[in-house]
Amino acid sequence: MAAPTFKHTFNHAGYKGEVEVPLGLWIDGKYTTSVDKNAKTIPVVNPTTGEKLLDLPEGTAADVDIALDAARKAFDTKWGLNVPGFERGKLLLKLADLIDRDIPILASLEALDNGKTYAAASLFDAPEAAGCFRYYAGWADKIHGKVIETSDGKLIYTRHEPVGVAGQIIPWNFPLLMFAWKLAPALAVGCTIVIKPSELTPLTALYMSKLIKEAGIPDGVVNIVNGYGQTVGNALASSNKVDKVAFTGSTAVGRKVLEEAAKSNLKKVTLELGGKGANIIFDDANLGDAVKYAAQGIFFNHGQTCCAGSRLYVQRGIYDAFMERFVKVAQKIKVGDPFGEDTFQGPQVSQTQYDRIMNYIECGKSEGAQVITGGARSGKNGFFIEPTVFSGGKKGMKIVEEEIFGPVIVAAVFDTEDEVIKLANDNVYGLSAGVFTQNITKAHRVANKLHAGTVWVNCFNELHSQVPFGGYKSSGIGRELGEYALENYTEIKAVHVRLTPYVGFVTE
Ligand code: NAD
Repeated sequence: MAAPTFKHTFNHAGYKGEVEVPLGLWIDGKYTTSVDKNAKTIPVVNPTTGEKLLDLPEGTAADVDIALDAARKAFDTKWGLNVPGFERGKLLLKLADLIDRDIPILASLEALDNGKTYAAASLFDAPEAAGCFRYYAGWADKIHGKVIETSDGKLIYTRHEPVGVAGQIIPWNFPLLMFAWKLAPALAVGCTIVIKPSELTPLTALYMSKLIKEAGIPDGVVNIVNGYGQTVGNALASSNKVDKVAFTGSTAVGRKVLEEAAKSNLKKVTLELGGKGANIIFDDANLGDAVKYAAQGIFFNHGQTCCAGSRLYVQRGIYDAFMERFVKVAQKIKVGDPFGEDTFQGPQVSQTQYDRIMNYIECGKSEGAQVITGGARSGKNGFFIEPTVFSGGKKGMKIVEEEIFGPVIVAAVFDTEDEVIKLANDNVYGLSAGVFTQNITKAHRVANKLHAGTVWVNCFNELHSQVPFGGYKSSGIGRELGEYALENYTEIKAVHVRLTPYVGFVTE
């Protein structure tokens, strides 16, 4: 059945105009609703008002199966080894240009269903998404193997081939950017894709389907199946038709994805999971920079960032001065309408996330940590929370151990380098960490000792398409971005060519 569309008129400082987004499933270049008679619609809520924005047609496992067949057919006939790398690269460059052209539309849609600010989406998410496609476009014709010398009489070479059909599951915190991080390396190496956006934030992925078509990427190369995690996500993780599954989201669901992959065809798995980043401020840090970056580390994207610096460790000599300035920055943050020009923080994405964060705040208070600022709801409607700073964080408190995924930071004081390294590493997660000091030797020494996939020295929450991103420990498996991500979507084939007559032990 033909899918409905979502029409919305935007009128804010950055963009005026009507946008039409096709809803439902995008399979083999066509917009449809589920083949499953029992499929329903998913209410998508506007987090700024708390009211329903649209009804999203739900996909099911049966639709995933059809989409996987389309992706396989496209892999065998229109993409993969059928299209030279430089041609794939040209299409990805075109797609990057189309994203740049439509930044105001994409950023407006992102602000609408996710609640992130239009300013952040138009200055960060959308341009970074374009940059990611552009970066991987450059790789598309540079993916090749090696000639390996063994002995005389043999030519041995490796081929780096696309792994096949990729199943990709993405979260709601960076709907467009995660879409780009997943698609770009997979398309560059020649994989075809079935992707499931978060049921909370489907709009930018669906709008991207129009741009993918306009760029000239053949039908069936990218397929989008919206739906719930337990149905559509689970089908991708467990299907024998998927060669590789890439997941970003919570550690609990990441574990399920890995289990399903192990129980089915042992598909390749990459997992980008949660974090509880430790941000370490030494006495000799540049105070102004450390304050601003610490705030960026936690309050960027309303704290809904897996690599957020949510544990703040400040050395005793600088503690009072640092906290005074840091709290002032937190109090200055404008919370409100994501389309407001000077808004820094919009609503949390959903009622569930709002409740979860508020529960953590209450839990922190009852565990004995002190709220220095924030700690309450902001406004009457929607899912707004005040930027919240706790002091007195101690090992064992839930707010110190667990990912809150909101605008909540927990500060603690420390005395020595050894002590803070131990504190920073004593957590199940290992995604990110920060070190602020003007002593270059200490900066490198500490960075080397931190168990985290990314360590920022004198900065925080800065990402680049060229640089690998991923976690130690329970923060995940594998790396996205950079050259490293190409390996996730590549099979290596060794080809042995004997150039001499038979040399073995068998006689005739
Ligand atoms: P989630 O892990 O439940 O959802 C992420 C994606 O996985 C969504 O598309 C969801 O539909 C899908 N999913 C859910 N259950 C699934 C299943 N059984 N099989 C396959 N796919 C499934 O995350 P969430 O509910 O959106 O957020 C909860 C917590 O996850 C957050 O508070 C945060 O701690 C973490 N999170 C981390 C990131 C990150 O970037 N690392 C992003 C979003 C959420």
